[in-house]
Amino acid sequence: QQLEHKVELRTGELRDMNNELEIRVDELIRLEHWRKELLMNISHDLKTPITLIRGYIEAINDGTIPAADTGIYLKRIYEDIQTINQFVRNLNELSLLESRQLEAKFAVIATEAFFDDTARKWDAFLNLERRPFHTKRLAGSGLFRGDQHLIGRVIDNLIDNALKYSGTGCPITFVFEQTNDAVVFRVIDAGAGIPESALPYVFNSFYRVDKSRNSGIPGSGLGLSIAKEIADMHGGQLTVAPNEENGSGCIFSLTLPLWQSKQQA
Ligand code: ADP
Repeated sequence: QQLEHKVELRTGELRDMNNELEIRVDELIRLEHWRKELLMNISHDLKTPITLIRGYIEAINDGTIPAADTGIYLKRIYEDIQTINQFVRNLNELSLLESRQLEAKFAVIATEAFFDDTARKWDAFLNLERRPFHTKRLAGSGLFRGDQHLIGRVIDNLIDNALKYSGTGCPITFVFEQTNDAVVFRVIDAGAGIPESALPYVFNSFYRVDKSRNSGIPGSGLGLSIAKEIADMHGGQLTVAPNEENGSGCIFSLTLPLWQSKQQA
């Protein structure tokens, strides 16, 4: 009976080991799939501007582009190089963030001043672009702890996306509110929005909703994954929801832990 019990125990152990192995193999397969996809995405995103640059240079060399027009094409080459540069910088930043190697400069930041500065900067720019821009400070004036530059990058990215993915007349609203334990920045647009089926994926690296892949709107699908990593490293959250009040558009919310409300400071 004792032997039977031992065999039973051993069988159980082996079954557990087998399950564990299966899980690890599944994980390896998933990682390998992800690595292949990553390489494909990187080469795809680099190929387009490199092909353009090569085409322009060849056409300049063989005279297809008349000498008088060279300036225009040199400018295009420069822009394509900038695209590549930006892409490589984003990739680099994402990998530093993912491996927690990016050195953040944490400081205690006053939300009120941070919100006002960001709002003022965008207001000036959007005025020039003639885009309706509203700001709303709903409540609170607490402090949060973070890297001002990185948090600024997240907000800039959200407003930039709102601009890119909604029509020229569509208003953009930048909101700040404070709860008992968090500060929340929201960027709200009234564009076409993101289909519900795509919402869970928008923070994945390289993910672009179908229409934006084909619409000619430039982008690599890295911005929101970088933004999400930055929110994570601050112990915060970045989320998206449909703009139901308007009927179309998105609400992106960056929630950061409240460091201290001003009264306590
Ligand atoms: P990129 O803009 O470079 O494509 P992002 O990671 O910033 O990459 O965004 C991922 C995708 O999410 C975009 O390609 C777009 O399809 C969608 N998206 C992001 N912001 C918005 C928005 N405000 N309105 C509609 N779609 C958006």
